[in-house]
Amino acid sequence: MTIKASDISRRRFIRLTATGVAALPFAGTLVGSSAEAAEALSESDPQASALKYKTDATKAAERKDATAFCNNCNFYTGKSGEATGPCSIFGSKLVTAKGWCMSWAKKV
Ligand code: SF4
Repeated sequence: MTIKASDISRRRFIRLTATGVAALPFAGTLVGSSAEAAEALSESDPQASALKYKTDATKAAERKDATAFCNNCNFYTGKSGEATGPCSIFGSKLVTAKGWCMSWAKKV
């Protein structure tokens, strides 16, 4: 039995198509994750500035409770031990775990 060049080409086409179809869900995941990458909140952001947000809580003159930090605030949804995490007050933007703003409320 001889194998024709057209058979090899067809087999190659089928193999490449199957690989491409199998990779499609992952391509969507990669595009989605980069598009959804969280942005760090800047102190100069108008809302952050209005709430006197500081990436270093010890630099916040308005802060009266020395134990108040973003990572023990009720609006902080970051994981314990990580340097930054999302704050629900500022949408999906990341605040520093050791930051602070005037909206601080003790985590319940
Ligand atoms: S609301 Fe809480 S977690 Fe968000 S920036 Fe202010 S102190 Fe940090």
